Amino acid sequence: MIPDNLSISELRKLFVKREISPVEFITKKIEVIHKKNPVLNAYLHINEQCIDEANKSQQRYLKGQAGELDGIPIAIKDNICTTDQPTTCASKILQGYMSPYDAHVIVNLKRAGAVITGKTNLDEFAFGSSTENSAFGPTRNPFDIQRVPGGSSGGSAASVASFMVPAAIGSDTGGSIRQPASLCGVVGLKPTYGRVSRYGLVAFGSSLDQIGPFANNVRDVCIILKVIAGYDEHDSTCCNIDVPDYEKSLEKPLKKNEISIGVPEEYFEEGLSTEIREKINRLLDNLSNDGFCVKKINLPHTRYGIATYYILATAEASTNLARFDGVKFGYRSSNSKTIFELYTNSRGEGFGEEVKRRIILGTFVLSSGYYEAYYLKSQKVRTLIKRDFENAFQSVNFIITPTTPETAFKLGEKSNDRLKMYLSDIFTVNANLAGIPGINLPVGLSSDKLPIGVQILAPAFREEDLLRFAYYIEQNLTKE
Ligand code: GLN
Repeated sequence: MIPDNLSISELRKLFVKREISPVEFITKKIEVIHKKNPVLNAYLHINEQCIDEANKSQQRYLKGQAGELDGIPIAIKDNICTTDQPTTCASKILQGYMSPYDAHVIVNLKRAGAVITGKTNLDEFAFGSSTENSAFGPTRNPFDIQRVPGGSSGGSAASVASFMVPAAIGSDTGGSIRQPASLCGVVGLKPTYGRVSRYGLVAFGSSLDQIGPFANNVRDVCIILKVIAGYDEHDSTCCNIDVPDYEKSLEKPLKKNEISIGVPEEYFEEGLSTEIREKINRLLDNLSNDGFCVKKINLPHTRYGIATYYILATAEASTNLARFDGVKFGYRSSNSKTIFELYTNSRGEGFGEEVKRRIILGTFVLSSGYYEAYYLKSQKVRTLIKRDFENAFQSVNFIITPTTPETAFKLGEKSNDRLKMYLSDIFTVNANLAGIPGINLPVGLSSDKLPIGVQILAPAFREEDLLRFAYYIEQNLTKE
């Protein structure tokens, strides 16, 4: 019997000792995926070549040439380009689209020997917080299939939470890794803007987008981050900064009395569920009893985050999505007489409702007369939000907040109220606006058995410290 929840680090040992083979393990995982996917709809495409790839991996183990992730099955959000599987962004406009190149993260994962199990569901073009905006049906939360897994990387979060795979890759523009990780009870990391190349990630908000890992524990997140992070000349915003061995750093002991944690008052106001508040407060008490310095801080511009984000993200999205015009990519409407009709019909028929709403909003805030009032002003507020964090990190090493205001909500519960849906990201968007790294760490279950997550934020490029701290909490302070 192969246990369901083997971690990457355990698997690598078992593969090396030949106690389990990559073929055996991946065959089992593909069975699990085929069994669970009809209900969860976490995958839009399952890679039927997996077993062949597992075979090749097995050969590498036999020859002693295995890479860091050899034979490890990993699921990929379907807005990341792959040459051997379709990339649809969960949109009709890209249905069946095959990318001519692999994203930088895919090249890195394949080089490390990872086996890509398939492409996971998302809100169309990553616009959403529930995965209900997918053109191919919603994903369901493995903890309760009447509820959403969060979004937009809902398929990736659900595939890890349901043990279809030990790890998955997602993207986070305003919370799309951390929020679904929280709702599905898994670890999810948004790295610093510039830490992981965005080359081959279908762009949403180019100044906000980052790719990052999901896994069932912090150590596995460390292992994946090391493989996907680092300089790439194809992404001009990707930084040439050393990538530490994050897993190895976990062994370094924490100097607790030198670490201070900021708790921003603005993140604990009304709207936060009582159970989440209590859970996080308990964690904060435990941290301070354990020798960490926990103190209240202020991030005064927090409340402008959602408005700022929804102006900047939609502005950037409206320009990025101009490329889907029925000419170069994907769906082309067949009943158009002029080139103008070809554009409008292809876009009108190919895009879903939320995508259209955001393109219209983004075009509006960029249009002459409104540009100064909305777009330019938001850029200024963004700087203020970024400065709030810079100031706070003068006196604290980490900031702790809830990841989401509530646990997983019911399918359909917020689909008719956009504002309510947008407010699901109230605690996550500011890290994207500031470019800093953030992680969701599961801290237990609510009384109705739904996962609760804590968000930990750190200064830019301090993933190593962030992961060591998260690991400490995971190992010592999250057990009830
Ligand atoms: N939920 C947010 C939105 O709808 C964030 C999405 C994301 O991070 N891709 O824009």
